[in-house]
Amino acid sequence: MADGIRFEKVSVAYGGNTVLDSLDLTVESGEVMALLGPSGSGKTTALRAVAGFVRPASGRVLIGDRDVTDLPPHRRGIGMVVQQYALFPHLRVEDNVAFGLKAQKVAKNEIPGRVTEALEMTGMASYAKRYPRELSGGQQQRVAIARALAIRPGVLLLDEPLSALDAQLRSGMLAELARLHRELPDVSILYVTHDQVEALTLADRIAVMDKARLQDVGTPQELYRRPRTEFTASFVGNANLLPVQVGSGSVSFAGAELKVPTGDVSSGVSATLCVRPHLVGLGDGPNALTGSVAEVQWRGSTHRLYVDVDGHRLKADLRELRTPPALGDEVTVHFAPEDAVLLSAGVSADG
Ligand code: ADP
Repeated sequence: MADGIRFEKVSVAYGGNTVLDSLDLTVESGEVMALLGPSGSGKTTALRAVAGFVRPASGRVLIGDRDVTDLPPHRRGIGMVVQQYALFPHLRVEDNVAFGLKAQKVAKNEIPGRVTEALEMTGMASYAKRYPRELSGGQQQRVAIARALAIRPGVLLLDEPLSALDAQLRSGMLAELARLHRELPDVSILYVTHDQVEALTLADRIAVMDKARLQDVGTPQELYRRPRTEFTASFVGNANLLPVQVGSGSVSFAGAELKVPTGDVSSGVSATLCVRPHLVGLGDGPNALTGSVAEVQWRGSTHRLYVDVDGHRLKADLRELRTPPALGDEVTVHFAPEDAVLLSAGVSADG
């Protein structure tokens, strides 16, 4: 089954409080879309609207070409995995996985084969007879994923599926999810997370949410390299956001003239310049700025330098820095024109 997901102006309110505001978003068939944003931005609400656990105040949800807005959850053909596994403690692994199949009235003689298939997909076939309490957190989450996949859903909804796991398990499971996606190329996946690494690693596209609204949507590379809003720039990766005055083919910042592509941003307006910290170099070069070192942090593979330039604090992530400058030293930093992105005012996160 190959089904995309479409939100058409979907709004959800609780007691007069809009927590999802007119969401328009399409997840293409076979695509992994991450919903990324801070806590409370409406991500889970959006996912629950697809699952059928919340009823939109307005708008429609489509799966494939079916309008499912008024369908009960079990008739939507979706698999869902949440943060807390939500396995039945009194059922063995195989019965947990069989549960959805029985609810879907799959023929009895087909169920054992489907259960094994799903458990094999998540590497859990040898644990079929165990109870959830006899499994680690990571194993329980694999069973929860197997249970979601057993019904062969066209759409898989994952709500912070890795956030209950410790860091090492998380990165292993991330690779597992990527593998599953390759094995199930027709399944559309909506993946709710507040973790940019998960979103950047797994998603074909990322929908950035803040304050009940969709702020931005694009491939991980687009959002990282060419963010359109300050919110995206700072939430997807780290960013220096410098207040600038736009000229023609250049901007002025802290009394310096910086050469950057100004695109279609008009001359004379105030705007924000985004420069990623790892693209800032130490020493003289194009777009040089001089300031004093406010802080030096050693982070293993890099040094993070904080440099105060005319009251603005710049971050630079530097590799291979044998002798880092000392606090209070005057240093010059620079960045290449093509590494800066001008964000026009008015499309900021609050815009
Ligand atoms: P996220 O998943 O981005 O953390 P949610 O979609 O869970 O955000 O929540 C969005 C907002 O809706 C939050 O302010 C949350 O408190 C509120 N909310 C979520 N569920 C309910 C509910 N059942 N009743 C009232 N408010 C809710």
